[in-house]
Amino acid sequence: MNIAVPRETIPSETRVALTPAVVALLKREGHTVTVQAGAGLAAGFTDEAYVQAGATLLPTAAELYRSAELLVKVHPPAPRTELVHEADALPEGAIYMGFLNAFTQPEALHHLAGRKATVYALEFVPRITRAQSMDALSSMATVSGYKSVLLAAARLPKMFPLLMTAAGTITPAQVLILGAGVAGLQAIATARRLGAKVEAFDPRPAVREQVKSLGAAFVEMELPKDAETAGGYAKEMSPEFLVKEQEAIAARLPKMDVVIATAQVFGKRAPILVTVDMVKLMKPGAVIVDLAAEQGGNCELTQAGRTVETPGGVSIIGAVNLPATVPQDASLLYAKNLFNLIKHLFPKTGPAPEADDEIARGACAVRAGEIVHPALQGLKDKPASP
Ligand code: NAD
Repeated sequence: MNIAVPRETIPSETRVALTPAVVALLKREGHTVTVQAGAGLAAGFTDEAYVQAGATLLPTAAELYRSAELLVKVHPPAPRTELVHEADALPEGAIYMGFLNAFTQPEALHHLAGRKATVYALEFVPRITRAQSMDALSSMATVSGYKSVLLAAARLPKMFPLLMTAAGTITPAQVLILGAGVAGLQAIATARRLGAKVEAFDPRPAVREQVKSLGAAFVEMELPKDAETAGGYAKEMSPEFLVKEQEAIAARLPKMDVVIATAQVFGKRAPILVTVDMVKLMKPGAVIVDLAAEQGGNCELTQAGRTVETPGGVSIIGAVNLPATVPQDASLLYAKNLFNLIKHLFPKTGPAPEADDEIARGACAVRAGEIVHPALQGLKDKPASP
């Protein structure tokens, strides 16, 4: 199968779907790989490195798309001009694998379906043990959790570690992490490595031990009995619980230097955990990094893609697409996730997975032009727009 890797076209996207190392692995699996010239440069991968790994370079996106039996990307195909959509350049019946973002960019879904494509959306890969090596959501959340702490540290007017020097003692920064899923746990680990004192909260009871094992204190409060779905995600909390949670957070805010907010509920607006009045409790110079910015934000003052500074001197960073700020390692993880999914769906030896395979079925958004994923049924009738 010919696998095609175009340059990403979304502004400020610096990742690339496949690294040279993964190109070499795919060649060993019997595939050919075509790469658009310059596709990996922003992530630190040269055209020469792709050629050495066995890829063929193509100078333009048009040629690249025409060559694709399997198109791999980070972002879904996007409009090139008002009249032309990237997906329309795909050969009929090709396969697309990458993030689909169908709820925010439904036009990509419809253009791909219009080309009778089969689409495997990485955000739909089921979060089961067998599919962990294909879980790009977790990989990217890991990168975001790490980078969120560095953003906070760079903005904060004090240092993170305890330092005892001849000139005096510097006390450690106090960090509160809200939501301890994949990103939150990585944020705890990163803040601890920098020497901060860390507290964290998550309504899922299983998280308490994970937080403690990373050296952070768990914010104790009565947890709801049915906080978790069968898939391990948090359910939407009741308004009464959120009020209690806000009180517990408010009690800690006056001493906090940094809040990293990562709380999300699948398919819903992110819960408001820090209100405008709560921000007023924080010290001048304190920093909130809101990783839920694109889902509406955990802080009432968050603006996605912007840093807001309050009259009281608190900065609220509405973090967006942090993996693109660490493109080399983010691409490395993303490419390995893609490789593992490709290997699972199109094995070199042995049979392809059965039609009812949980990963093949779960990740498939569109099959030969038909929108098949249950979560996308509501988008079926939307007309395509360029
Ligand atoms: P997410 O990004 O959807 O949410 C982030 C965190 O916010 C979650 O930990 C959630 O519990 C928390 N949250 C929700 N409401 C909150 C509130 N009111 N206050 C504070 N925190 C709140 O979650 P995620 O990081 O993608 O994953 C969550 C869980 O999914 C994991 O911890 C794990 O159990 C499961 N998971 C399983 C696999 C696997 O088995 N392959 C892979 C990844 C994740």
